[in-house]
Amino acid sequence: MYNFGKVGFDPGHHAGANVGPGTYREGDVMLQLGLMLQKAYGVFLTRTTGSNITLSERSKLAANAGVNTLISLHTNAPEAAAGVIVFYSVRHPGDKQIAEYIGGEIARAIGLRFRGAATKPSTGNPQTDYFGIIRNPVQMGIKHPFIVEHGSHWEMAVNTEDKLAKIVGTYGRILQLGQPDQTPDPTTDNGPGKPPAKIVEIQGYVDILNKAVPQIIGEPQKWVEKAADDTDIYWLIRKTAAYIQAHKP
Ligand SMILES: [Zn+2]
Repeated sequence: MYNFGKVGFDPGHHAGANVGPGTYREGDVMLQLGLMLQKAYGVFLTRTTGSNITLSERSKLAANAGVNTLISLHTNAPEAAAGVIVFYSVRHPGDKQIAEYIGGEIARAIGLRFRGAATKPSTGNPQTDYFGIIRNPVQMGIKHPFIVEHGSHWEMAVNTEDKLAKIVGTYGRILQLGQPDQTPDPTTDNGPGKPPAKIVEIQGYVDILNKAVPQIIGEPQKWVEKAADDTDIYWLIRKTAAYIQAHKP
């Protein structure tokens, strides 16, 4: 059995995005799928509304939440692109087996053909991934990012509710997703009387900055609070601390 660690999902696109047959919209149905997964298992989602979030912001949110396995939820176009396909990172060839496992099980559950696991290298640099929602998570240390195409829009538009319920059950089984609240929120819950793990982590980075450049940092506690609220500041502080550590005389 694979060790997926903490699993999160990325409902692809945004409200109304990618028109399929009739009223089918990929962005809406994939959000519905994400919200069903969250309700069933309490998993992390990169978006819970129709808003259009950039791929790098989605990746940051997932990395911040401590996600190890990130599955981006999609259906495919054009109509000829039928069947289930799973993309994994060119940087993580070991993920091919996991991708085949996920794709095979999802395809079987909803009665579609499994087209296989694939990578898509970037044209300019074949050592990196073409898809931002695989490339960015890898750069941010998320171990297993995948894109799952759950058939074409045209396939998913048929018996949609039934297919979504089957997909939710299948992910729960194959990824060993537990009950809601199985994974404590690191920003709020670290046991009674202890500072949250996220704050302890940020405090560590700010300590490094404060030792190196106290005149710039000023009030360290202020930056801890700002970084806890703002993912851009969190990453700025985290990366600066890492840079200082790497360039110590
Ligand atoms: Zn898509």
